[in-house]
Amino acid sequence: MPVPTHAKLIIIGSGPAGLTAAVYAARANLAPIVFAGHMYGGQLMLTTEVENYPGFPDGIMGPELMEAFRAQAERFGSIVHNVDVTEVDFTKRPLVVRTADEEYTADSVIIATGASARWLDIPGEARLRGRGVSTCATCDGAFFRGKHIVVVGGGDSAMEEALFLTRFGKMVTVIHRRGTLRASKIMAERALNHEKIEFIWNTAVEEVVGEHSTTALRLKNLVTGEESMLPADALFIAIGHDPNTAIFRGQITLDGAGYIVSEDGVRTNVDGVFVGGDVYDVRYKQAVTAAGMGCKAAIDAEKYLETLETHHGVHHTPPTTAVPA
Ligand code: NAP
Repeated sequence: MPVPTHAKLIIIGSGPAGLTAAVYAARANLAPIVFAGHMYGGQLMLTTEVENYPGFPDGIMGPELMEAFRAQAERFGSIVHNVDVTEVDFTKRPLVVRTADEEYTADSVIIATGASARWLDIPGEARLRGRGVSTCATCDGAFFRGKHIVVVGGGDSAMEEALFLTRFGKMVTVIHRRGTLRASKIMAERALNHEKIEFIWNTAVEEVVGEHSTTALRLKNLVTGEESMLPADALFIAIGHDPNTAIFRGQITLDGAGYIVSEDGVRTNVDGVFVGGDVYDVRYKQAVTAAGMGCKAAIDAEKYLETLETHHGVHHTPPTTAVPA
């Protein structure tokens, strides 16, 4: 389907927040354009089984869930376009959204660009990326059958990655910089009790070593200061995420960590621009909370567009007839 160059609403992002916003906006007849990115679907596309999304008592695979989100958004008339937004101009009216090839305008925008995995920023990491170093166990785990795999991190992501990687690795070592895990109790216990997972505590990975592929990690014990080498075939980094806000810098208020600032979790400092999901959410970062925020953003965008139309005389709802008391 050709993509119109103007829409009442453009949604940037296609994770649970963006596609829920699209379902609500499409059902309100706004025919939103969703810029889904060339890798649509958000972080759940990189995960395996989702056990905590309500409505699926037996769990559901992340990509399958996102396919369903997308089908539901499209069913009601959302135009989902697998293209990245490269630039925005929120100083203009209508608002401007650019891709590499085209300029689009919109009366309102919902930002739902989510977050991306963080890297350690240590020597060897960038050079050996794709050659043993990864942030995505579901993408790259199968390359390390029968190998020694290391996961760094102490949160739910690290536990999830470590548990998944036990399918492939002969052994999985989790390296955490502190002596206790941040992960939820259920995930922590699963990992701590798994026979193929061992933990190295209070330790930082300081360097990834290897010429053509990862062969070892240089470690530093953060309590004793002692350094050591750990032979390893793969390093999966699961130390959290950073919000995807580079294209909004200078256009919208961001906090020190790059998250979009919003007083009510829906509106931004720019009139007509709304936000939802991990790009705003420093605290919860769950698929279900992102979906909830996408819903709120779409409802508020719809209300905003109504007032806009009323003020500009584009569309007047007839005055309600007063009912005599
Ligand atoms: P997180 O909870 O922020 O945990 C990040 C972990 O990485 C922490 O243990 C942190 O150490 C460590 N870390 C951060 N920077 C580091 C660095 N430079 N070097 C070494 N270690 C570093 O992030 P997350 O695990 O990605 O989870 C994010 C959110 O998603 C959470 O709310 C989580 O519950 C949710 N989530 C849920 C599931 C699930 O329910 N199955 C799965 C994945 C994620 P410290 O502990 O010392 O800070």
